[in-house]
Amino acid sequence: MKTSTVKSPKQYRTRSVRFRLTAYFIIFALILMGMLWFFQTVFLEQYYESEMEKKIQTAVSSLSLQYSVSETLDLESYLQEIGTISNANDMYFFIEAEDESFNISSTDQGSAGRYYYGRSGVDLARERLLANNGEPVTFKISNQTGEVVTQVYAAKVDSQYRPNVRFYAFAPLTPMGPAVGILAKQLLTVTAISLVVAGILALYISSRIARPITGITKQAAELAEGHYDVEFEGSSYREINDLAGTLNTTAEALSKTDQLQRDLMANVSHDLRTPITMVRSYAEMIRDLSGDNPEKRNEHLGVIIEESDRLNTLVNDILTLSRIQAGVETMKMEPVDLQKCAESILATYRVLEEQEGFTISLETLDEPVLVNADEHRMQQVLSNLISNAVRYSGDRKEVTVAFSRKKKMLRCEVRDKGIGIAPEDIENIWNRYERASSRGHRSKGGTGLGLSITKEILERHDAKYGVESTLGEGSIFWFELPVID
Ligand code: ADP
Repeated sequence: MKTSTVKSPKQYRTRSVRFRLTAYFIIFALILMGMLWFFQTVFLEQYYESEMEKKIQTAVSSLSLQYSVSETLDLESYLQEIGTISNANDMYFFIEAEDESFNISSTDQGSAGRYYYGRSGVDLARERLLANNGEPVTFKISNQTGEVVTQVYAAKVDSQYRPNVRFYAFAPLTPMGPAVGILAKQLLTVTAISLVVAGILALYISSRIARPITGITKQAAELAEGHYDVEFEGSSYREINDLAGTLNTTAEALSKTDQLQRDLMANVSHDLRTPITMVRSYAEMIRDLSGDNPEKRNEHLGVIIEESDRLNTLVNDILTLSRIQAGVETMKMEPVDLQKCAESILATYRVLEEQEGFTISLETLDEPVLVNADEHRMQQVLSNLISNAVRYSGDRKEVTVAFSRKKKMLRCEVRDKGIGIAPEDIENIWNRYERASSRGHRSKGGTGLGLSITKEILERHDAKYGVESTLGEGSIFWFELPVID
């Protein structure tokens, strides 16, 4: 059953690649910008302060290390170094001896005069350091308006060469407000630009994807109308190329099927008409000519019966094939002794040995071997192969059915030493109606459907099958099925 959904124009538009892609791109750009905005404004201040904290600690540890471990500390150059580091980092240092014998301030060194935190800053730092039992402390000092303005670090430095000291370092913290403001403005511009770029990019990509798909859709509509010669065009996208390739193959297959269907119709009607014409002409002959002559009448009636049988077989074959192909026919799987089946089929051919000089032999294995199969259908397979071997056995009239075992497989071969099959025909003989009739062997009888039925049944059994044949020397048709242990 065909189903289709009706979409409103709005739904139709919002489902297009162009619409979706543009929307996704814009959402993506907005999320990205939003995240940047969030991190820059919220975390910038924290990041800056923690960087300052690290910087101040590094400066102090380098200075205090020199003070504590260097045995021959040149005070002159040490004081100079304090001045240099203070200048370079815009920091203020205050060092005092624990025994109150001396104190040094970086402003004494003529540097970092910009910031002097006076006694109150140092007193506060000392208080905190002592309260922390001399362990290093780091804290911030705010101004009256509550804005953090100074980063402070205090540590105790012991030395075996000179008096123990307390180190206090102060660094100004630049307010981040104005910087954040500038960043926000820049981000706004970047956001606007990214949105425009995302939009343009999305439109470009979507039109590159959508255009070939629209083309393919049009071509597919042509295919649906029965134009099998349409050529689906791909694009630079692999997936679309693959789709076009698949559709081209489909178009080819459809075209072949269509041709086959036409041939089949022509063949079926031709083959149905032949026996019907024969039946009609012979019936007319009986009516007009041979009605009174019992001998002639019987002969003509014989032809009528033979032709009706042929008609019957043909109709049965067509029905069987279409039932199997349509999947209506389910295989009734059960353990089957194929050797026994072959034996009983061959028994019906024994009459040919006496009447027409055929040699029909059966080579079986010593013990019965069972396979899982639909007995009735496998009988049909054997019967088709044997009747073909007899039909195309030529003058040598030798037919052999041989069973052998290959590991877990039972192999059945139907051999003849007849006319054989030309290499160019061998691929096609399994197709419906690919038959002797098209190559001038009409007189041999058969419906041209036998091997197609055989193939369908074997495939439904997942059997391996094939044919080896040499023109003028004979053929071997074989199949293999797994043995039941
Ligand atoms: P048909 O009713 O014509 O025999 P089949 O489907 O059974 O139809 O076989 C298809 C064709 O394969 C035959 O027409 C014949 O040309 C070829 N063929 C089948 N079996 C043999 C064989 N044993 N030797 C030579 N040709 C064969």
